[in-house]
Amino acid sequence: MLERIRIVLIGTSHPGNIGATARAMHNMGLADLALVAPRSESRSAEAISRASGADKILHHAPVYDDLESAVADCRLVVGASARSRTLPWPMITPRALGERLPAELADAEARVALVFGREDTGLTNAELQRCHAHVHIPTNPDYSSLNLAAAVQVLAYECRLAWLDHQPAHSAPEASTEPATQRDAEADQVAASAEHEAVFGITWDHPPASHADLERYFAHLERTLITLKFHDPDKPRQLMARLRRLYLRARPDQMEVNILRGILSATEKHTARNDQA
Ligand code: SAH
Repeated sequence: MLERIRIVLIGTSHPGNIGATARAMHNMGLADLALVAPRSESRSAEAISRASGADKILHHAPVYDDLESAVADCRLVVGASARSRTLPWPMITPRALGERLPAELADAEARVALVFGREDTGLTNAELQRCHAHVHIPTNPDYSSLNLAAAVQVLAYECRLAWLDHQPAHSAPEASTEPATQRDAEADQVAASAEHEAVFGITWDHPPASHADLERYFAHLERTLITLKFHDPDKPRQLMARLRRLYLRARPDQMEVNILRGILSATEKHTARNDQA
């Protein structure tokens, strides 16, 4: 389960924070780090020194230009935010996030991304609007912003607690002599049978849509709404943000997204025919 949780750092400006993030992840058993447009060198001496032996994670961390590419294959994307924004968005506590993970990751194909923002400005509204939910670590409201790697540490710890809770009862992880991968597989199986496809609360017929599927849908939806003259990109107001929030809240599955795209294609064909007539 832990190996399918991706930590995404956007626009990090201090190499020490990238190194300290790798250390925090390795301490908690996470390994999948992705960097989006970093503003510092992730393999510099400072990063490696702060990784303190966890530099393997730094060497394996891919670099992306944007958030979409970093989380394209993820079915759940959660943005970590130090403060609330103008448009309310579904919020989840760190504990509730951890508790949701075994069900979200019960399917061996599923991946989850936890997204962290820049040290100076956090995540942009556009980035936050690409997330299904936001997680806020409850802090002193007068001084709410944690150091980036400290925020990663807190959420990675919640992931680990949730994973430990799903260990098969007979194998206390510290005492076990089985290889970690086998223990992981066993824990995943227990989670899968206990919470079979519990993302939707009951056994479901199709997996949740991936981030890439949803982004293709949103792009198609925007094009169609412009053609229909329902949406004016010069006066966007918050139409697309509100529609994103609606669809992300519904957690459409892969079949549902195909149907929605089919409806858009039919609408486009129909308007093109009417325009010609
Ligand atoms: N000054 C920035 C905060 C940057 S801290 C701002 O005003 O938004 C860097 C990143 O650490 C944040 O983007 C967020 O992803 C994470 N972070 C810091 N404090 C957090 C908190 N209390 N809850 C959740 N994430 C937090």
